[in-house]
Amino acid sequence: MNQSDSERIRSVIEGMGYELTKIEEEADLIGVVACSVRQKSIDKVYSKIQKWNQWKNNRSLITFVSGCILPSDEAKFLKLFDLIFRMSELPELPTMIQQCGVILEFSAHHLFDDLEREDDRTDFWQVEPTYSSRFEAFVPIQNGCDKFCTYCAVPYTRGREVSRSSAAVLEEVETLVENGVKSITLLGQNVNSYGLDKKGEELSFAELFRAVGELGKRSGKEFWVYFTSPHPRDMTRDVIEVIAQYDCLAKQIHLPVQSGDEEILRRMNRNHSIDAYRKIVSDIRELLPTATLFTDIIVGFSGETEAQVEASAKLMEEVGFNMAYIAKYSPRVGALSASWEDDISLEQKGERLAKLTKILKRTSLACNEQMVGKTYRVLIERVDKRMKEALSARTEGRILVRILHAPEELIGTFQNVRITSAANLSLTGELV
Ligand code: SF4
Repeated sequence: MNQSDSERIRSVIEGMGYELTKIEEEADLIGVVACSVRQKSIDKVYSKIQKWNQWKNNRSLITFVSGCILPSDEAKFLKLFDLIFRMSELPELPTMIQQCGVILEFSAHHLFDDLEREDDRTDFWQVEPTYSSRFEAFVPIQNGCDKFCTYCAVPYTRGREVSRSSAAVLEEVETLVENGVKSITLLGQNVNSYGLDKKGEELSFAELFRAVGELGKRSGKEFWVYFTSPHPRDMTRDVIEVIAQYDCLAKQIHLPVQSGDEEILRRMNRNHSIDAYRKIVSDIRELLPTATLFTDIIVGFSGETEAQVEASAKLMEEVGFNMAYIAKYSPRVGALSASWEDDISLEQKGERLAKLTKILKRTSLACNEQMVGKTYRVLIERVDKRMKEALSARTEGRILVRILHAPEELIGTFQNVRITSAANLSLTGELV
């Protein structure tokens, strides 16, 4: 979402005549799209702005911050940055920059007032993004979240759920497809509750995804469409049925479960049971037998017992995820659970993370080994970060494949690759 926001911010700034520089020291205007999910990201923002503010002693520089900002950080950022704005205020950014000194005061009060009220302005979606990749794009379809998971601050930083118009989403997807983009990800904090805020006026998520599938069919072009992140509560069978019907709808599902324990899920306010999650997994296995399954899991949530970690371990074994983003719980100011005791030590969290990672590596390896010797369609993405002599690619199921001795001109294209070996979380292959 931050990348997508950055692409729109870039368009607005470039529209004012600014040019992109990759040399930080050269910039006249510099900003951050912040993420408040982890403290580490926010610490980075503080270290950056301190450095930039020192530069201001010798030259003129305007600084801004946007993105997901917790109320507590917002108050501090106001003193450090020249401008702070919500994405909904993006169309006003040129005025803010032009009148930086004057607007500053107004902006500060304006934002503080805003925190308490709903902000459903969506003009910023009309800003045409400057995509950072020629073959991969992120398309926001929804912003904000109504779920109020107790560990999460998103409903407070991004506000309530607002769906973008399906006509605008489909128009953006169509343009991307016409321009030869190969991988498109529909984005939202809670993507599959799309349309619920405009029931009767807008398409449901399944209907929107079907329309994307139809568009793909008509285009005759090859591309894959993903979505992230869905919530199990809104993951209905009709969405899975739609994915099964269209080649362009990627057979990869990222379905965050967060914990394998009912009581923890209840305390997280996830509002679904483990059995409901199992039912979705069984629907996926039945209707999309080739689909890969990814998840998010938190370890060390307030009050989590060893038995509850064991429940997460059991669920991971049972489902056999291809990928799991396992995170140590850290309280986020503004989220409800921040007022609860963070009673699991860092050491225990580390042990729990290691325990679940071990299972993930085993289940992922088992899935990957079954792919050896077979040929898969992959999208080649870049020169590999670890092996400079290899290109990295992704299967439709988003499994990383390193291809040795392939020419860089193939970056951004689909190729057939025979898998030659499997590791924990990746594969190696050769061009066919
Ligand atoms: S669904 Fe829960 S975790 Fe996801 S953005 Fe909403 S509140 Fe946060």
